[in-house]
Amino acid sequence: MSRALIRAISGPVLHATARGPFKLREAVEVGPQALLGEVVRLHDDDIVVQVYEDTTGLRPGLEVVGAGLPLAIRLGPGLLGNIFDGLLRPLSGSDSAFVAPGMRRAAPGQFAFAPKVAAGDMLMAGAVYGEATGASGRAQRCICPPDLTGEVTRIAPAGEYSETATVCALRTDDGRAVELAMGHDWPVRMPRPVLRRLPSTAPLVTGQRIIDCLFPVAQGGKAAVPGGFGTGKTVLLEALAKGCNADVIVYLGCGERGNELAGVLEEFPLLTDPKTGRPLMERTVIIANTSNMPVAAREASIYSAVTVAEYFRDQGLDVALMADSTSRWAEALREVSGRFGELPGEGGYPAYLSSRLADFYERAAIVDTLGGDRGSVTVIGAISPPSGDFSEPVTSHTKRYVKAFWALDVKRAQARFYPAIHPLQSYAEDAREFAPWWAANGNGDWWKLRRRFLTLLDEQAHLERMARIIGKDALPVRQQLTLFCADLINDAFLRQSAFSEIDRVCSPRRQSLMMRLIGKFVDLAESAVAAGVHPERLAHLSSLRPLQRMGEEISDAELARFAALEADLDREFAELIHASEAGNATHG
Ligand code: ADP
Ligand code: MG
Repeated sequence: MSRALIRAISGPVLHATARGPFKLREAVEVGPQALLGEVVRLHDDDIVVQVYEDTTGLRPGLEVVGAGLPLAIRLGPGLLGNIFDGLLRPLSGSDSAFVAPGMRRAAPGQFAFAPKVAAGDMLMAGAVYGEATGASGRAQRCICPPDLTGEVTRIAPAGEYSETATVCALRTDDGRAVELAMGHDWPVRMPRPVLRRLPSTAPLVTGQRIIDCLFPVAQGGKAAVPGGFGTGKTVLLEALAKGCNADVIVYLGCGERGNELAGVLEEFPLLTDPKTGRPLMERTVIIANTSNMPVAAREASIYSAVTVAEYFRDQGLDVALMADSTSRWAEALREVSGRFGELPGEGGYPAYLSSRLADFYERAAIVDTLGGDRGSVTVIGAISPPSGDFSEPVTSHTKRYVKAFWALDVKRAQARFYPAIHPLQSYAEDAREFAPWWAANGNGDWWKLRRRFLTLLDEQAHLERMARIIGKDALPVRQQLTLFCADLINDAFLRQSAFSEIDRVCSPRRQSLMMRLIGKFVDLAESAVAAGVHPERLAHLSSLRPLQRMGEEISDAELARFAALEADLDREFAELIHASEAGNATHG
């Protein structure tokens, strides 16, 4: 074990003189409290250490001890249902945003272990050797670490074991004996290996219409949610965590104020999973690093979170990682880098901001796992650009790496139009790939309808500008119709309250029915206007109100009501056209 002596301390960063070899990214223990740190710079015998805990009380002359290994976190069955800090040390409950100095991990949990291999079997990297079942009754796979293969020399019989007890022993090719508990350690900054990355053909179903229908993100894809203060980033990420179709949710509260995270910490344990009726927490891991916690740990927390997500992916699961907010992470990076004395780049951020963002987002993927399964990690990162300016460095660099961009708009949020995703500033690069998925899920017209909606919304923006100058009534009737239809798309389709019992999650089937019904309305309205009906008349249709309110009024259990609504529309439009023709006949 190498040692070094502290020479100087600057906040979370310290300089030390090495008395032996250290490696870059090696984990270290600092001072008498054995504070956790990591070697981030090496120059001859001069090392720079970033410390993940409060450094008050450290002084020059104290010792830094190398661990010989990179900074790693412990992955295992105890993750689900629990709350951790940025280095995966347990926090319990909402009021204990505090981890004792030097604390590595809490008392291990007890799990029922069921062996899946026998002595003499070859255990390949990533393969399953057992199953661990905790109090929730949920069975999790115990998988061989991705960098290890060997012959099973001993396997524990079925029974209750502590999470840290050895349940499997291996002999590797080169004759090493290795003991495995139900989980294993993995370095946070190293992506976990996979057999192959696959192209994604299915969207992550989020239950939010504007996302799934207009700006879908792939399962295994990456999305960013930029938005100024109060535009709804946190509410949206929480809605996705509650409603998306991932098997496991990793929720990272990164650097936001404690009270913002308190909402998540208090609310999540009370939520039930609509799919199983069980507590949602049973398939959730929360990683919390509020603004009052050490800044360096915040820098590490996004890598911890994505490593946890990959660990569940490697068990053959679909995982969604929500990070709120990557801007606070970037600020931590900036602060720590400033302490190293590095030259600041754009916005004061270090020059490697972009490559660090890439390192994070590139870990999203849908893969064939080493264990022979299919699993995915979808990454969704919130960005809080100062004064809502999307040209700032974190937003602009993130844009290079994400495929879906959900831009939250201040004006929409101020009008309490939620989710405040702006349909003209947002995009989804691989949306077209999901047309076959929608066709298989009841909406063969999805791509056509999506294009139509987006075109109407785009035209609306131009026409509104014009209408402000010449007055709406001076626009030709066809353009007045466009404005009417675009309003309907906004109100009846894109608006979706996260607090409505019926509407906070919208199934793909219901989304399809709603989308088609609005498409139908636009068709009918166009033929009515072509037949001489003035667009103003449309506002008086008695089926208009039910159409505008269908999201909050027609639940997934009453889908037949959409057909009834469609019949009403058909009837009313027929009457309207008939009356208009009769009127034309008398006048003519
Ligand atoms: P941010 O995280 O961007 O600062 P929040 O997510 O905390 O903003 O949202 C601010 C407020 O806006 C919320 O407290 C809530 O009242 C409202 N809000 C945001 N999104 C929605 C939504 N989808 N449905 C209903 N209300 C919302
Ligand atoms: Mg927030």
